[in-house]
Amino acid sequence: MIPVYQPSLGGKEKEYVNQCLDTTWISSKGEFISRFENAFGEFIGAKHATTVNNGTVAIHLALEALGIRTGDEVIVPTLTYVASVNTIMQTGAMPVFVDSLEDTWQVDPADIRRKITPRTRAVMAVHLYGLPCDMDEITAICREHDLLLIEDCAEAFGTLYKGQHVGTFGDVATFSFFGNKTITTGEGGMVIAKDEAVFRRACHLKNQGVSSTREYWHDVLAFNYRMTNICAAIGLAQIERADTIIAKKRQIAQWYKDGLAGLPLKTHDEQPSTTHSFWMCSIAVDDPAARQPLRDHLKAAGIETRPVFYPSHTLPHCAAEGSFPTADSLASRGINLPSFPDLTEGQVSEICGEIKRFFA
Ligand SMILES: *Cc1c(COP(=O)(O)O)cnc(C)c1O
Repeated sequence: MIPVYQPSLGGKEKEYVNQCLDTTWISSKGEFISRFENAFGEFIGAKHATTVNNGTVAIHLALEALGIRTGDEVIVPTLTYVASVNTIMQTGAMPVFVDSLEDTWQVDPADIRRKITPRTRAVMAVHLYGLPCDMDEITAICREHDLLLIEDCAEAFGTLYKGQHVGTFGDVATFSFFGNKTITTGEGGMVIAKDEAVFRRACHLKNQGVSSTREYWHDVLAFNYRMTNICAAIGLAQIERADTIIAKKRQIAQWYKDGLAGLPLKTHDEQPSTTHSFWMCSIAVDDPAARQPLRDHLKAAGIETRPVFYPSHTLPHCAAEGSFPTADSLASRGINLPSFPDLTEGQVSEICGEIKRFFA
């Protein structure tokens, strides 16, 4: 079976993890934590980065650090992974869904404008599958309406908008290092904050709200969202190879684009002024009725695929009124193809061959 994903662990991961074991620094203190945070911040061009234990709590912590709470509305694309929406709901705020754009699959800025109300506190931009949102438009909307901006960059490590790494536009931004993300720590995440005070609050909240000057004094309702030194050790080894991993993923996407040309489908392409990191190499078939039969055909040929996310407004616990025709359409036509960095040109060619055979 060719899987959709498997991590690429060909660097110093084992050496660094063994250092944790040999020194007994296996918990959430140890040198790899700050080394990973510093290397990560440097890579994306952010001053403040703090590790957490997954990408979901990263979003929750970022929202809490901004003071998002009950009564607030947070605008979010309906076409996203459920964690973007769940974490908004976990603060007590209400997610307000917006539609996506057909060409980019990213949030539609015109629909963001339509959904702003007096209760809107923030916009969450999700850079879906590795392509950035329209950050010129979104930052302009937030500025005009005095809204906070959160970037969910879980799928967008290595993604640039006009040469600037995503995660550096928003008031806060979050990354995930789950096993299938572009760089991984097994489970893990990162919170970025522009403002020093917001960053301090995130660090305080992730560590049980413990006072920095008084032992075992906890002055606020808080969380244990800390990453372990072992995870950070893996993360540091991953970031040392980040450029190689991203370059390889971009190469794989180009192999797919060339191999799938002329078929009744569209690849999820890079757009002008962007650098697509291709977390997932994705396609949208022209005919939604072809989606499941194509996935079945690939499965029978030993090729794993994933459907694009169900739009959040269709999930039972976040059901919402409204019309989201583009998100609905993309969700009915989209497929994520095998996208892991160690895929070979031969494997991509085999996958494209099976897709051609299906349509022949
Ligand atoms: C993966 C992902 C998350 C959550 O990350 P975990 O590390 O799995 O908790 C959040 N948002 C998006 C868009 C994701 O793809």
